[in-house]
Amino acid sequence: MEMKPLPFSEPLTGLSEKGIAIHHDTLYAGYVKKSNEIRTALEPLEHGGDVASANQSYSELRALKDGETFALNGVYLHEAYFDVLGGNGKPNGALADALARAYGSIDAFIAYMSACGMAARGWAVLAYDPIASELRVYTGDAHNHGGVWGAQPIIALDVYEHAYFIDTGADRKTYIAAFWNNVDWKKANARYEKAVGNR
Ligand code: FE
Repeated sequence: MEMKPLPFSEPLTGLSEKGIAIHHDTLYAGYVKKSNEIRTALEPLEHGGDVASANQSYSELRALKDGETFALNGVYLHEAYFDVLGGNGKPNGALADALARAYGSIDAFIAYMSACGMAARGWAVLAYDPIASELRVYTGDAHNHGGVWGAQPIIALDVYEHAYFIDTGADRKTYIAAFWNNVDWKKANARYEKAVGNR
């Protein structure tokens, strides 16, 4: 698996270049690296290797499988996060219309998802759930916690401290507001339309 470059080049407003660089070049890069490392370590076990010691309290296989979903979801969620940044934060298009219908107004949706970001320890994710055919906000306390299988992330809001401490200290609310001010709704719309099309 290859690392994806940052999908925007202009500086963001309220989120520093230094913070974004550490987040992308060190943390996200680390999840890509670990995903590859774990994949390589699993290879022999997937092809007739000794898995007789598999155990739910501790075993090599358990450690690898736990790390696998943590690292891989870390990759996918961060790619979704960076993918919708770099815009002007002005909601428009099919996604904004669908959210306004579902939540009463786009402002009501943003207020609700922001609150979900305050309630979570890792992620608040607007996802399209193709089974229910609806947009839902799900939260997770770690990359491999709280996700709903099949649901496709449209807007992923990282609320781990590493996403904001360098810019706003313990003030997560100001960070979340800055996140929305940088959302590229054109890209969010494209993700939404692709998810609905994949149904
Ligand atoms: Fe992060």
